[in-house]
Amino acid sequence: MAARILDGKKLAETVRAEVREGVAAFKAKYGRAPGLEVVLVGDDPASQVYTRNKEKASNEVGMQGRLHVLPASTPEDEVLALVERLNADDNVDGILVQLPLPKSINEQRVLDAVDPAKDVDGFHPVNAGLLAAGRPRLVPCTPLGCMRLLALAEVPLKGARAVVVGRSNIVGKPVAQLLLAEHATVTIAHSRTKDLAAVCREADVLVAAVGKAELVRGDFVKPGAVVIDVGINRVDAGNGKTKLVGDVAYAEAAEIASAITPVPGGVGPMTIAYLLQNTLTAAHARAAR
Ligand code: NDP
Repeated sequence: MAARILDGKKLAETVRAEVREGVAAFKAKYGRAPGLEVVLVGDDPASQVYTRNKEKASNEVGMQGRLHVLPASTPEDEVLALVERLNADDNVDGILVQLPLPKSINEQRVLDAVDPAKDVDGFHPVNAGLLAAGRPRLVPCTPLGCMRLLALAEVPLKGARAVVVGRSNIVGKPVAQLLLAEHATVTIAHSRTKDLAAVCREADVLVAAVGKAELVRGDFVKPGAVVIDVGINRVDAGNGKTKLVGDVAYAEAAEIASAITPVPGGVGPMTIAYLLQNTLTAAHARAAR
């Protein structure tokens, strides 16, 4: 039987509608809109699209979204000065520095400079530490999106075997911690894992966040498992064009899984939706203190 398709595009609309309502309530209570500042350094075409989409999405839900575009030659000090200015601005609730930054800039130094209370990407070590300590505050957006997709799948997580392939700070580690908080038994696999297929076949819930096109094959999937594919890989479509595929061989896995996210239209749209949710969360936390 073919797997249920977990429609992230549709679910993201639901999340955005929830945020829109939350923003209206926030405005009514505090007399201002939550503010999201997106910082882009350089002219990477993909980053230009992502940051424009983030600015647009935030304004669509009634927030005060603003994009700062700095030339690739901007010295690190100037980027840090902008972050400091946004940290000090009381009308700013969320600060997002688009990655990757130009090679001349120390990415970690810039991310560490963001006020943890405004760190809507959840990348600051303070927020990473709070999540690891079981006291989540601002949690990375993509992992939050994965958890909401699992809720849509109605998969019981308590006691389930979960395997996360990938251990990045942005996706793999935080999603593993969120699964652990839901009482799943979690294995984190990575590039040095031996017999990845056998490890994955243990999983009731399989999350792939690798960045390798269709690495996870159909025979990695336990019959009836729920598969969340975080990967976004552009590959040759054979006709002189390119297409997007995930880290999972979708057609094969969909034959065996009970539910699966497509690429595109799965985890991707959920990430921006949870950026908006995180901005609202940050705004409430700041307004209440
Ligand atoms: P990283 O490159 O930071 O991490 C990849 C992880 O995969 C690493 O932990 C690496 O292991 C592991 N890995 C690499 N090769 C293998 C292999 N052959 N077998 C097992 N594990 C392997 O990537 P990200 O976590 O940032 O992103 C992962 C994917 O998710 C990418 O395709 C990215 O584009 C996508 N993504 C999608 C988002 C969305 O909104 N949908 C948001 C963010 C990312 P090791 O640590 O040992 O090197």
